[in-house]
Amino acid sequence: MADEARRRKALEVATTERPVSTRIFTVANQKGGVGKTTTTVNLAAALAQLGMRVLVIDMDPQGNASTALGVPHHAGVSGIYDVLIDGLPLADVVRESSSVAGLWCAPATIDLAGAEIELVPLVARESRLRKALRAFLSGHSGEQRFDFVFVDCPPSLGLLTVNAFVAAVEVLIPIQCEYYALEGVSQLLTNIEMIREHLNPDLDVSTILMTMYDARTRLSAQVADEVRQHFPQQVVKTVIPRSVRVSEAPSHGETVMTYDPHSTGALSYREVAVELTSPRASPDPSPQPEGASRE
Ligand code: ADP
Ligand code: MG
Repeated sequence: MADEARRRKALEVATTERPVSTRIFTVANQKGGVGKTTTTVNLAAALAQLGMRVLVIDMDPQGNASTALGVPHHAGVSGIYDVLIDGLPLADVVRESSSVAGLWCAPATIDLAGAEIELVPLVARESRLRKALRAFLSGHSGEQRFDFVFVDCPPSLGLLTVNAFVAAVEVLIPIQCEYYALEGVSQLLTNIEMIREHLNPDLDVSTILMTMYDARTRLSAQVADEVRQHFPQQVVKTVIPRSVRVSEAPSHGETVMTYDPHSTGALSYREVAVELTSPRASPDPSPQPEGASRE
C-alpha cells in the first residue's frame, strides 16, 4: 500500500508531452488471451485521460475493443470491414468512446471474420488499412491531430494482422506472465521481419508490455526476468498486475480507467501511458547529426 501511495504521488508530478507526430502502434501476439485487447483499450483510455487524442482500430471480428469502449458494433453498423472491403473512408465509421473524451474507435463487426478471405483477391490487399488510415490522419491536422493510434489484432497472422503491420510504425507486444510466455514470440518476430523486408521497412518492435503479473508466484517473476533479458530496450518498466477489476470492466462497456480509476490495474495502465509520453519517449524519427544534442 505504501508502494502504491508512492506510485500515485509520482504520477501526480510526472510530466507528459504530446508526440511530435502521430505514433501508430499495432498491438500483436498471435497467442490469444495474452492481453492485447485489454492493453489496447486501457492504454488508449489512459492516454486520452492525459489529454492525448487517441484512435483505436478494432481489427478483431470479436469486437471486444469496440465493446470495452462503448462503441456499437452489431450487424448493420458500418465498421472496419466496410473500410477494408468497400473502401469506405475511416472517418465514416469512427465513433467517440461513450466514457472517455478524446478517445475514438473504428469498430469491428462480425462480418470482419469473412474479410480474411474476401481480401485475398482484392488489389493491394495488404495495404488497405494503411491507405485508409493515412487518408484519415491527413484529414485531421492542427487541433484535430491524433497523437496515438492503436490497432488491436486478432489472434492470428492472417491478412487482417498483415494489414495492421503494414499500417503501423511501431509494434506493441503484450506478453502474459505465464508458462510458455515466449513461445510463439520468435515466430511473431520472424513474421514481423518478413513484413519489414517486403511490405513495411519502417516497422519497429518498440514496446513490450508484461501483463497479468501475479506478484505471489515465482513463475511471474521468472517470466518477467526472462523477457527483460531478451528485450532490454523494449520492455516497459511498468508491469500490469492480474486484477479482477480489469477483467470486469468490459462487461460494463467501459475500460478500467473509468470503471474503477483507483484500482491497481488503472494505476498501472496510467503509469504505462506516462512512460510513453514522458519527454523524449518518442522514438527519434530521424538520425541526429554527429555531435548534436537532443536537449
Ligand atoms: P487478447 O486480446 O490477447 O485475446 P484479452 O485482452 O481479451 O486478450 O484478455 C484475455 C482475458 O484475460 C480477458 O478475459 C481479460 O479480461 C483478462 N485479462 C486481461 N488482462 C488482465 C489483467 N491484468 N487482470 C485480470 N484479467 C485480465
Ligand atoms: Mg483480443
